[in-house]
Amino acid sequence: MSMKNKMTVSDLDVKGKRVIVRVDFNVPLDAEGNITDDKRIQGALPTIRHIIENGGKLILVSHLGRPKDGFEAKFSMKPAAEHLGKLLGKEVILAADVIGEDAKAKAAALKEGEILMLENVRFHKEETKNDPAFAKELASMAEIYVNDAFGTAHRAHASTAGLADYLPSACGFLIKKELDFMGKALDNPERPFVAILGGAKVSDKISVIENLLDKVDTLIIGGGMAYTFIKAQGHDVGTSICEMDKLDLANSLIAKAKEKGVNLLLPVDNVVGKEFAADTEAKTVPSDSIPDGWMGLDIGEATIKIFSDAIKDAKTIVWNGPMGVFEMERFAIGTKKVAEALANSGAISIVGGGDSAAAVEQLGYADRITHISTGGGASLEFLEGKELPGIAVLNENK
Ligand code: AMP
Repeated sequence: MSMKNKMTVSDLDVKGKRVIVRVDFNVPLDAEGNITDDKRIQGALPTIRHIIENGGKLILVSHLGRPKDGFEAKFSMKPAAEHLGKLLGKEVILAADVIGEDAKAKAAALKEGEILMLENVRFHKEETKNDPAFAKELASMAEIYVNDAFGTAHRAHASTAGLADYLPSACGFLIKKELDFMGKALDNPERPFVAILGGAKVSDKISVIENLLDKVDTLIIGGGMAYTFIKAQGHDVGTSICEMDKLDLANSLIAKAKEKGVNLLLPVDNVVGKEFAADTEAKTVPSDSIPDGWMGLDIGEATIKIFSDAIKDAKTIVWNGPMGVFEMERFAIGTKKVAEALANSGAISIVGGGDSAAAVEQLGYADRITHISTGGGASLEFLEGKELPGIAVLNENK
């Protein structure tokens, strides 16, 4: 994939230059507008610091939430700009608009080392349409474009991709880190390479499974998606979540794994419940004897042992998706144990964004994981082997 040799912000001379950086400051806010989790802002700090310490004139651009079209106070970048200012101990100037008079005047007045945050780029519907005229207006405020928003790198929008048509471009350190860890794991992994997939549906992860079958030594499948495979193998799955139209596909994936010598591990036992409820009656049963009227809600103890053993022997591990209905305490054990096995392994461990990243963080294992991806959708597309448009457009090192 041509995503490996991308220019990084440190390859460019930013002194005295206006540098527009697409960041992912799409942070969660409470009802009072307070930021409840600043991870995404923290994640952009290395790129931000690098630019201001090297005399760049920094212009930040991000989206936040899903505004309709035009300014809406509740989607303003104000809290994010103020929070960034606190983290840096430095003023972050907030523009009143995105490509309007105020933004342009403030961008033109920037001095070396100063920071301007534009308003929410999605106040213009042209952003998500990747409108060239809009991208050109944005680009006119700067001399260099840096993309550091991994979370939106799978979208070709004006600020995530279009800007590269008008400005010399590079990736920031956050995207660089994602490329280094995930790229290396997929292209040149230390073996054994074990992938763990979970979550609700097979249909969401078909391309991921297909791509990984060409790369991994062991593929572990847990969570709701396992029941489609168990059913495909001729076992009843009771009322478990199961995609009846994907049984042939599941069988062909099982055959493909065999053909490629990939060790495909499915649950051998399951915690089943009468209903999809936290306080339902529950018991553990083998995968070939899930009783009528019961649904699989978590992997069982024997499965946890098999999965953990495979994880223990791995040198590279990629994980995406929970092993059960982890939102309910009683059915979170499989997910917790897999997170624990990952944390205790000496392997290079990579956790895709979303639920599995949240699980690892909640359990306090985050600092024992090599890399937790900052983008759910983007990391999934990366695992599918797709070229992410927001990265593909950036200049390459010669
Ligand atoms: P995904 O977004 O595809 O990663 O799926 C995550 C969701 O899958 C979580 O909300 C889990 O509750 C759900 N999930 C995991 N295992 C099961 C299961 N056995 N039955 C139903 N839902 C599940």
